[in-house]
Amino acid sequence: MNLKDRVIVITGASSGIGEATAKKIAKEGAKVVLMARSEDKLVTLKNEIEKDGGKALVVAGDVTKKKDFENVVEKTVDTFGKVDGLVNNAGLMPLSFINKLKTDEWDKMVDVNIKGVLNGVSSVLPHLIDNKGGDIINISSMAANRYFPGGAVYCATKSAVKMFSEGLRQELAPEYGINVTSIEPGAVATNLTSTVTDEDIKDKMSEMLEMNTLESEDIANAIYYTLTQPKRVNINDIYIVPTEQK
Ligand code: NDP
Repeated sequence: MNLKDRVIVITGASSGIGEATAKKIAKEGAKVVLMARSEDKLVTLKNEIEKDGGKALVVAGDVTKKKDFENVVEKTVDTFGKVDGLVNNAGLMPLSFINKLKTDEWDKMVDVNIKGVLNGVSSVLPHLIDNKGGDIINISSMAANRYFPGGAVYCATKSAVKMFSEGLRQELAPEYGINVTSIEPGAVATNLTSTVTDEDIKDKMSEMLEMNTLESEDIANAIYYTLTQPKRVNINDIYIVPTEQK
């Protein structure tokens, strides 16, 4: 299936994986809807996409606020007439050891990484059901499949996203033709580690980032692959890691 004129909402589009995905799928013909809190960055990205002949709409918003998400979907339908898919990509990773009790950071991860995904699904689902199909791609992580130091809460949020995706798939794919995918990347070179405040983790992170990590474009390509399969094909999981990552 090609992407021409398919309308795809991408959260966390202001940087990293979301930004690369917007560029990739817009280049292949999708109309992209860019959501994140940093409106200025989204506008810069929209201009770049349009300069390359693509189509983009900016609707700034916070994924933890259901109303913001509903506004994104409403503006999408007003502008492009429909919504065909959602890439639930926005996420945070303020890793810390549990004994530091950084409970505000735990809350933020639960709010953005889990509740943000739920808000996205509840906002687009009525439209996908009306359209008799569509795509939901949730960006989980390698962290869904294994614990790493300082990642107890982050790994738990990403396991939740992976399992929620499987539940969605079983409930939505056969009955409504809505394909659902969990993408589980290993280390990707982005700003994701910028929210880490635990000094003990910062030391470990710099060691880890010495390896040759994935680029955001590698994940964008996996998302493109998922979106362009024939309707009969549901890609359940893509577990994609750097060659050098143990
Ligand atoms: P970045 O930090 O580059 O991007 C995170 C994006 O999430 C930004 O666009 C940010 O935009 C957005 N965001 C954060 N909070 C909110 C919010 N409340 N509402 C709306 N948008 C929000 O990191 P990545 O590109 O790496 O992260 C993308 C996803 O990939 C995350 O879910 C992450 O967990 C996952 N992932 C990343 C890996 C990696 O190694 N980089 C590995 C595995 C998974 P803004 O601040 O403007 O709102």
